[in-house]
Amino acid sequence: MKFFLALFWVLYFACGAVQAEDKPTEIHDRIAPVPQTSKRIALTLDACSGKFDDDLIEYLIRNQIPATLFATKKWLLVNPKGVAIIKVHLDLFDVEDHGENHIPAVIGAGKRVYGIPGEPDIIHLRREVTEGASAITELIGVPPHWYRGATAEYDAQAVTEIEKLGYGIAGFSVNADAGATLKRLAIEERLKHVKDGDVIIAHMNKPASDSAEGLSVGLTHLLKQGFHFVRLDQVSLKVVP
Ligand SMILES: [Zn+2]
Repeated sequence: MKFFLALFWVLYFACGAVQAEDKPTEIHDRIAPVPQTSKRIALTLDACSGKFDDDLIEYLIRNQIPATLFATKKWLLVNPKGVAIIKVHLDLFDVEDHGENHIPAVIGAGKRVYGIPGEPDIIHLRREVTEGASAITELIGVPPHWYRGATAEYDAQAVTEIEKLGYGIAGFSVNADAGATLKRLAIEERLKHVKDGDVIIAHMNKPASDSAEGLSVGLTHLLKQGFHFVRLDQVSLKVVP
């Protein structure tokens, strides 16, 4: 009896360890420091699916604020007006890979992140990453080098595979709009805490949200404080806890 009880606990903890190892994690990054630079921050905007937030992009163009845009193939195909505007401003915008169909980078039947199903196997993950990249090369004209998966959560196997395909995984350190769900004042408040080296994430696919309004006020404030915006194709990132 004692033997079976011991065996039960050994198996219980072993399964728990496997599960913990396999649990998707949100990757956090800051801009890797370079001597004699200060007050560098990066704005990243996700275009998951949905529409084009022209108020937000027009604000960035008016104020000459560079940004890195993570677009899915799905978004690029249904937003030709947005694509056209981005394409004439490639001096400001670096377009990077957010996948083909906005499927979270977790592998295995039944795996989900925030209720969204992940990939059934590694072949599907590869397709999500490479088809997203091809769409950017084709529609924007510049091949991407960074990848950000839907939901920004990854399991260990997906991380290894994405890096093997040649893409760096772009995390973030300040979540400015919580998936375009935050109200204007909450976005402004989050941006007040931005520090040198931060990578900000927000969304450019929900024009009905408060993202454009909140970001306009918050980013103008950061410009006044002397922060300098860089794009991810100009810097390296450093993983932080
Ligand atoms: Zn997304």
